[in-house]
Amino acid sequence: MSALFPNYTRRPIQLIKGKGTIVTDSNEKEYLDFTSGIAVLSLGHTHSAIVETINQQSEKLWHTSNLFESPGQEQLAESLVKDTHFAHAFFCNSGAEANEAAIKLARKHTGKHVIITFEQSFHGRTFGAMSATGQEKVRKGFGPLLETFRTVSFNDVEQLEAAIDEEVGAIMLEVIQGEGGVNQVTPAFAQAIEDICRSKGILLIVDEVQTGIGRTGTRYAYEQTVLQPDIMTLAKGLGGGFPIGAMLGTSALRDTFGPGSHGTTFGGNPLAVAVAQTVLGHVFATEFLEAVQEKSNYFIDKLKTELPAYPIVGSGLLLGIVCPVEVAPYIVQAEQAGLLLVAAGPNVIRLLPPLTVTAEEIDQAIDILSTILL
Ligand code: PLP
Repeated sequence: MSALFPNYTRRPIQLIKGKGTIVTDSNEKEYLDFTSGIAVLSLGHTHSAIVETINQQSEKLWHTSNLFESPGQEQLAESLVKDTHFAHAFFCNSGAEANEAAIKLARKHTGKHVIITFEQSFHGRTFGAMSATGQEKVRKGFGPLLETFRTVSFNDVEQLEAAIDEEVGAIMLEVIQGEGGVNQVTPAFAQAIEDICRSKGILLIVDEVQTGIGRTGTRYAYEQTVLQPDIMTLAKGLGGGFPIGAMLGTSALRDTFGPGSHGTTFGGNPLAVAVAQTVLGHVFATEFLEAVQEKSNYFIDKLKTELPAYPIVGSGLLLGIVCPVEVAPYIVQAEQAGLLLVAAGPNVIRLLPPLTVTAEEIDQAIDILSTILL
């Protein structure tokens, strides 16, 4: 019997090495990795620039704690907020932690305890982030949950307006619900959220843990909407495989997170911030983001041509194939044919290749998908 808790449903393959989009298992079988470690490997597996950064930084300094000044964190914060309306960053180790920081910041700043979240959302597995998550299967068995969250239907303006009262301090949403089915915020809903937040002084928290860092073809997904978040959370793609999370906030929020208000031992350690800086050096380059958009257009066009019966949803390289049946068996068949995929909700096949994926690899993936779905 395994010494691990059985809390994950694991596929019975052991991946032992990877390069770019390709991973190899313990039987030397190769797969196209269209999961990217669930939207993590922005630059693919073992990218030479990241390997070099890890090698160099690991010879210098790994960890200092946040007792001391951190030039690496300062530089990374600058890179994240550059040319945005954000002013400050806080570093942690995961998406859930980034969301915990956002929830604490919003509650302390507004003095109000209610945060609106949405059905089918996913914000993480810690207690606050789990309570924020609008999926019963994630919360089941852990009640009573935090009463902070008021969950309403996604993209339903009427329900949202009806949920707003004096107790509401913040609205928290994903621009595209990644885990919940690759559901995109509609322009009308984004406008309604923005209007409500600005007219009532309600803070807007955007969870870009999955959509951020180039995944949707822009640095952040909110840039493709009218949303002007007060707080944004990041993780996954930021470290390209090295654990790091971040919360960004506007200058108005700075003093709410004064000394002693929040913290974490490992958050933003020199090794993690060095890797993230290397990731941003690649991903935030205009040509890189343009290439992501081009690959996305190519991928979407080809999916629509080859699989005309299936709606294609999502943006950039966070795409979904909506199926009329549960997709779990398709995921297994694709794996057998050499393509790793992950579901989003019961009926959507999620496509999350590394942002460095090539057109040939997209073609190969579509060939496998066509064989399975047609
Ligand atoms: N928020 C979103 C939108 C996510 O997709 C995830 C993870 O899938 C999380 C938060 C939680 O991130 P982590 O697993 O790093 O805690």
